Amino acid sequence: MTNETTVHPTPALAWGAATDAGRVRTGNEDAFVAQSMFFGVADGMGGHQAGEVASEIAATTLRDRLSAGAGSVDVAVAAVVEANAAIFQGAHNNLDQRGMGTTLTAMVVLPDQGSGTRLAVLNVGDSRTYVMRNGRLRRVTLDHSYVQELVSTGHITEQEARHHPRRNIVTRALGIEPSVRVDTWVMPLVRGDRYVLCSDGLVDEVDDDEIAAVLAVHPSPQSAAEELVAVANRNGGHDNVTVVVVDSLEGDAPPPDSADLAVDLAWDEGPPVERLIDAEAGAVGAEMPVAIPDQPAPAVLPSRGRFTMGTLMFTIALAAIVALTLTLVLVVRHGSGNTPAATSTSTTITSVEPTTTLSTTTTATSPPTSTTANPGP
Ligand code: MG
Repeated sequence: MTNETTVHPTPALAWGAATDAGRVRTGNEDAFVAQSMFFGVADGMGGHQAGEVASEIAATTLRDRLSAGAGSVDVAVAAVVEANAAIFQGAHNNLDQRGMGTTLTAMVVLPDQGSGTRLAVLNVGDSRTYVMRNGRLRRVTLDHSYVQELVSTGHITEQEARHHPRRNIVTRALGIEPSVRVDTWVMPLVRGDRYVLCSDGLVDEVDDDEIAAVLAVHPSPQSAAEELVAVANRNGGHDNVTVVVVDSLEGDAPPPDSADLAVDLAWDEGPPVERLIDAEAGAVGAEMPVAIPDQPAPAVLPSRGRFTMGTLMFTIALAAIVALTLTLVLVVRHGSGNTPAATSTSTTITSVEPTTTLSTTTTATSPPTSTTANPGP
């Protein structure tokens, strides 16, 4: 690989990649890049095939900027910021593409500055990068997703997150805002390491143990990538699935402690308010900013709805009481005027059904309030 600005040699890497629309979707909105110095997976979102446009803009922009590696982490992040701006601009120039966005997980080779070749991993959204070392699979990236926030705050387990009804909601994506926060990790290139970059179409269908088992029996990165896609489809194939597998054939010797990945983490810490973006529909229809870390969104938003419903029920019950009372009074006044009618009025008011209904309704709506507001650990 040659480039006027490139000063570092191409490391010995072997790689393979596979992508598939899955067994449910008609189109494939994932995109990937697999070159000697740069690898990336983008999972597009948005209607009218706009997700396909968004992921392709990301792949093309990053391929242009990073195919010869990156001089520094800042250079790599700048390329992601540029891709974000291009998608954001495209979404605002074309009505059909409004709200489009894409996740991105990427890995780029950094120059050897005397301490060996290093890799930078970049992430926005819920696609993932893993490292397999000595037979053990570790996730490097942290998902920017609603369920990851629930896991991180102890509200649900990793296993529950895999089946959560809102697992499609991501909290960050390229193209949704004029600017984007990019998480980065820097780690040494270690001989024998295997890196896996994938869209959520893999991890939603195949758990980490099964991914590790497939990687262990496929020495060829291409056959490993193809088999992982095939397993995702056998397990359901509900989403587009993309896998890039990269093997390091050189670099530092593996450390004796296989648990030590020596990852230098550089999360982009921002304010705890992020957007909820439907990974299928894009930003359209999910415009509200929601504070997640301290108070899960379902505990806040529906409670406002329950308050409105309770008020409505109370008003209806009160109106029913007043109407019945007035009706009975009119009946009494226009009746024969005998004494039993007055007695009847008194008795009926005492046992007016809406009073009972109001009490029952209030009681019945209370349990869901506490259940939803406190999902429990
Ligand atoms: Mg997906």
